[in-house]
Amino acid sequence: SANFHKLNSVSKAYSDYVSDACNIRVLQWNILSQALGVMNDNFARCPDSALDWNFRRYRIVEEMIQYCPDIICLQEVDHFNFLKHVLGTQGYEGMFFPKPDSPCFYIEGNNGPDGCAIFYRKNKFDLVKNENKILEIWRVQSNQVAVMAVLRIRETGQEVCVVTTHLKARQGALLSTLRNEQGKDLLQFVMNNCDNRPIVLCGDFNAEPSEPVYETILNSRHFSSAYASYDISGLRSADREPPYTTWKIRDEGEICHTIDYIFYSHDAMEVEAVLDFPSGDEIGKDRVPSYLYPSDHFSLVCDLRLTNCL
Ligand code: NDP
Ligand code: CA
Repeated sequence: SANFHKLNSVSKAYSDYVSDACNIRVLQWNILSQALGVMNDNFARCPDSALDWNFRRYRIVEEMIQYCPDIICLQEVDHFNFLKHVLGTQGYEGMFFPKPDSPCFYIEGNNGPDGCAIFYRKNKFDLVKNENKILEIWRVQSNQVAVMAVLRIRETGQEVCVVTTHLKARQGALLSTLRNEQGKDLLQFVMNNCDNRPIVLCGDFNAEPSEPVYETILNSRHFSSAYASYDISGLRSADREPPYTTWKIRDEGEICHTIDYIFYSHDAMEVEAVLDFPSGDEIGKDRVPSYLYPSDHFSLVCDLRLTNCL
């Protein structure tokens, strides 16, 4: 069921992927913090055993490596050392930056703070620079962070700037204002560090496309959103995001909306393929997380082709 939908072509299986120097396959995923998922989220229809770390950790790794991504951007990472160890055996190197006052700290038996992480394929890239940032709201530090990696493609010497973030959660007018302020600070961070390099900016923005922060990102530095760039399977019109990137059931009800994005510099890259999300039937009536899908967010995967390459 998981197919890459290639522009102007039939769908292509992800396993056919051969990494080349002009293409970057990016995976963006809020993996669901182990401590938060078990103790805070209160998923009404997810069996406890599906959230057991000894089971779930292999599903998380399997989900990532099956797509052979060149770059992996993650949020809600509270087991970085495990991921670094396991992904290390698969050819990845990674970096992590924790939230200053992670809600995980307040959970009994926590494994440390959650935060954002970037992994990259070691045989494709050299790390030029890593910068981390506590995002500010009106010049005051918030509890949300961003991680940046400047990566040099070994074969061509071309550099790309990869940034990931997890903005403030929860609904409401004030919160959408706070997210917009975090988005402005995030862009400042990007401008100060990415220079003229092509940029991949992805994360859990906790904001639907109607929120101001979505426009703030798109109106700056010529960003486009990878999934909105074209129509998957002819089911939605161009310039529209998919109908959901997370789909869960809490006691308050079903939550199904789009809050995760992969933004890219459209003057330097083109979207060549995106991974389709599983349908409602495929994920089942209890939604996610589940035995099959270890997070309440789906993984976003796209192929970005560098337009000025070789
Ligand atoms: P956020 O509002 O950004 O949310 C933190 C996490 O909660 C996110 O990972 C989010 O997931 C998840 N979340 C969102 N909605 C729900 C929900 N309905 N039920 C359960 N979890 C949800 O929090 P901050 O990081 O800004 O932290 C808030 C502050 O609260 C911290 O500064 C900390 O000091 C304080 N705190 C205190 C506690 C205490 O016991 N004293 C406990 C926890 C926090 P997603 O992004 O996927 O929606
Ligand atoms: Ca969450």
